[in-house]
Amino acid sequence: MEKKAALLGGEFLIKETSPDQIFIPEEFDEEQLMIAATCVDFVESEVAPHFDALDNHQEGLMPSLLKKAGEMGLLGISIPEQYEGFGQSFLTNMKANEAIGSAYSFSVAFMAHTGIGTLPLLYYGNEDQHNKYLPKLASGEMLAAYCLTEPGAGSDANAGKTKAVLTEDGSHYVLNGQKMWITNGGFADLLTVFAKIDNDRVLSAFLVERNTPGITMNPEEHKMGIKGSSTRQIFFNDVKVPVENLLGKRGEGFRIALNILHIGRIKLGATVLGGMRRAINNSVSYANERKQFGSFLSEFGAIKHKMAEQVVKMFSTESAIYRASKDIQDTIKASLEGGKSYGEANIEGIAEYEPECALLKVYGSESLDYIVDEMVQIFGGMGFSSEAPADRSYRDSRINRIFEGTNEINRMITVDSIMKKGLKKRINLFEKAREILADPEAISSVNSSGDGFSAKMKQIENLKKVVLILMPLAQDTFQRKLMFEEEILMNISDAIMGVYILESTALRVEKLRSRGSDKIALYDDMLEVLTYTVVSQVKQVSFEAIGAILPETEATKYAEILEKLTYIKPGNTKEARRRIADKLIDDGLYKF
Ligand SMILES: Cc1cc2nc3c(=O)[nH]c(=O)nc-3n(C[C@H](O)[C@H](O)[C@H](O)COP(=O)(O)OP(=O)(O)OC[C@H]3O[C@@H](n4cnc5c(N)ncnc54)[C@H](O)[C@@H]3O)c2cc1C
Repeated sequence: MEKKAALLGGEFLIKETSPDQIFIPEEFDEEQLMIAATCVDFVESEVAPHFDALDNHQEGLMPSLLKKAGEMGLLGISIPEQYEGFGQSFLTNMKANEAIGSAYSFSVAFMAHTGIGTLPLLYYGNEDQHNKYLPKLASGEMLAAYCLTEPGAGSDANAGKTKAVLTEDGSHYVLNGQKMWITNGGFADLLTVFAKIDNDRVLSAFLVERNTPGITMNPEEHKMGIKGSSTRQIFFNDVKVPVENLLGKRGEGFRIALNILHIGRIKLGATVLGGMRRAINNSVSYANERKQFGSFLSEFGAIKHKMAEQVVKMFSTESAIYRASKDIQDTIKASLEGGKSYGEANIEGIAEYEPECALLKVYGSESLDYIVDEMVQIFGGMGFSSEAPADRSYRDSRINRIFEGTNEINRMITVDSIMKKGLKKRINLFEKAREILADPEAISSVNSSGDGFSAKMKQIENLKKVVLILMPLAQDTFQRKLMFEEEILMNISDAIMGVYILESTALRVEKLRSRGSDKIALYDDMLEVLTYTVVSQVKQVSFEAIGAILPETEATKYAEILEKLTYIKPGNTKEARRRIADKLIDDGLYKF
């Protein structure tokens, strides 16, 4: 029987995890790696030759590539076999997303179709809806889009004005309204449209076929990046949708939208890994070819520093994404075994890890942005030329901080969802926090200055204590008004994100050690570099937060404790980075 996930969502803040409780990417089996390799082959042979043509919106090219992916079974990876899909697990799906993620605009179209376009139907649809549409979505005969955003309803998605009114004979809903920023809008055949029925305060969801009379759209948006993806405004003018195309229950649309976005977030975290790999590989190959002052760029310490940082960001994103994905998968399996339907089990599994999904979206997108920014810098003037690959990587990366919920919204979700779990006593967050606050002596006596795994875990425990000090203090000080103290929530969120990323990486490295990895010294180097970054960030945000939460004298008292908890003993990160970069330079590509 499949074991349950190690911890509940958000519980990592109050409980220890051991290396054997987490999944690491080195544990993917042959079949999973073969599926990923098929995706990579597809990208390199079928999509990469058309990157320019896609960005120039060559008529019909994007849908034809999506249909080709469908013929190869790639659009149906997560669709069960009974609907002619490939029926693969959550983890396999994530690995496939990583592989497709290097395909710039194509990956956006692919993710919109397989993710937000297909999953509302897959998880909330009834048997008739499944039978009617899923096989066509799996094969690519129909392509999908997700229509939530409106001119007046972006981050505030429930503010949408699109209306649905039941016809007198009760056979149809009549939709009127406008959606914007709809990915795949120009060619999608099946739209999941969110609208309010009559005077409802919350949204409902509808499956709308594109050829229904009354649907019109604006020309393609001119965008900064992902120029090849289709992005349209769509208008609904008296569009008659059969009542059987209501998805889920009346008023369930907002919940559907949010739950699908949780998945979209962790999927985005996996997708950006593909972009990272391509950017790192292009960075090192350029640095290994270009000479200045008689040396290759890759011989300069400042360039090694950048490349090592790129590697550490990718390695740490990977560590955390696949840890969370396996926890989600285990939770889904346990729910299925407990008798839940396929849709319910998936939704519950993913909703449980709402905080992890949100923080992984933020960390993944910001890591990719860092990597592509340094890629431009490594390319120098050529980084600014549209003839070199840095240009597209840089422009296409930026959207990831905006869609699937902006990073500001996701930072707030991270804190909010953990606090809610604590307040509802799903996790013992506040009990644990009060214990810590009640015994400042114990906090002050912490010592994380040793070496080895247990010292590392002690150091991470100290960072968790930082969060556990800040959360109740913020809650007590501001109570219901805490939601208006967004700067503090952002600070706390960054500390939580740092903890999860660092712990996931430390656990992966330890597991690799126990497996006898021959690269363990390099993994230790990566962990050392990451620890410096995370600890100093947690220190900064915790000082900012405490100063904003408490009056000066009290803040000073806590600052002394925070100082101790964020102590880091000096180490030679310069040499650690050089060793990481040298491995990248020798291999000529990311092979860690
Ligand atoms: C290329 C592209 C493709 C997209 N694809 C789709 C799609 O397929 N389907 C779909 O439905 N939507 C799609 N979107 C829409 C996307 O999800 C929204 O753009 C996004 O949710 C942000 O909404 P907004 O643009 O209205 O920004 P706003 O909500 O106006 O936000 C503007 C700024 O204010 C901040 N902000 C807003 N509210 C708060 C708050 N309470 N506290 C703090 N800061 C806040 C935001 O973080 C952001 O920095 C797409 C967008 C783009 C650009």
